[in-house]
Amino acid sequence: MKLSEMSFEIGAIRPPSEGGSNSLLLRLTRNCPWSRCRFCYGIMYGREKFELRSVEEIKADIDTVKTIADQISLVSWELGYAGELNHQVASAMVNRDPALRLSECFVMVFNWLYSGAKTVFLQDANSLAMPTAKLIEAINYLKEKFPGITRITTYARSKTLAKKPLNKLKALRQAGLTRIHVGLETGDDELLRRVEKGVTSEEHIIAGKRAKEAGFELSEYVMIDLGGRARYREHAENTARVLNEINPDFIRLRPLRLIPGVPMLDDYEKGELVLSSPHERLEELKIFVRRLNFTGRLCFDHFLNAWYRDGTRSRTLFSQDYSGYKFPEQKAEVLALIDEGLRVDESAHLHYKEIMGMNTI
Ligand code: SF4
Repeated sequence: MKLSEMSFEIGAIRPPSEGGSNSLLLRLTRNCPWSRCRFCYGIMYGREKFELRSVEEIKADIDTVKTIADQISLVSWELGYAGELNHQVASAMVNRDPALRLSECFVMVFNWLYSGAKTVFLQDANSLAMPTAKLIEAINYLKEKFPGITRITTYARSKTLAKKPLNKLKALRQAGLTRIHVGLETGDDELLRRVEKGVTSEEHIIAGKRAKEAGFELSEYVMIDLGGRARYREHAENTARVLNEINPDFIRLRPLRLIPGVPMLDDYEKGELVLSSPHERLEELKIFVRRLNFTGRLCFDHFLNAWYRDGTRSRTLFSQDYSGYKFPEQKAEVLALIDEGLRVDESAHLHYKEIMGMNTI
């Protein structure tokens, strides 16, 4: 079989930081078992139903990744580069098999190897829904085939984490799962109910603390403007409260974005949800950051975070790198940047639909 005909399953999304690390994406389950959050609705997964994949299927995908990786390495040796990957190796392979240029799997494996083949992200929305023993078997097989992997991460719902016994989480950590990304969105119970997150603030806290106790690095995602103008203060205050209790390694800010098909877009169009202006979003952020008392990193690593025009250029207010700002050391710096943004005339701030360049709100 030609390399361009070899494929493994790749799911729709991964956290921005995993893109930045050129992580290999390995699909353990399909779609989201919840698909009800009103700002998301599982649209990114085509609203397809959740499915577990068998360990045999997953192992077959890992085998395919290994075959592609071995072929790439072989060509590098043939060309005299001793396993090193470079433009010449890629060109030679595409010249021999032009369809490789369009092979998402080949491009991913090539980029992954080029970046050191150290990080893997397990897809889709809630890998911990998989029976723990099967998840461990898949991770063990992955590490057996690629012993150089140092970081394996995944998304998990707080609901699932909160139900998973500590000994099972520790077993997963022991097997090599290193980091969990959780969509906290908000710590405000009223807002969690309104957006149908399917979890309470108490469950978020239990889940986050348990993940930390099991030894995971924990990333918690917060959705700025989720409560719109009507509930920004409760959203900011309660989210800080919950995160202070959890003390995650990373808090990652991801402003609300309403894509076609999500119920909250209907709320917006009917006038039932009034979104905050750029300055109001910064005011919400200021309340949140002022109350934040944790010892991890606050990250603005999503391209929708605050942009403004400065002459002919567009600038981001915060650094969008994946490791963000260290707290508490850089808290004052973040607050100063928020104030800087508030001093910029609101008309110079970019509305996120301008940033996206897409036909949505
Ligand atoms: S749990 Fe996550 S993926 Fe599923 S609907 Fe909610 S936000 Fe979307």
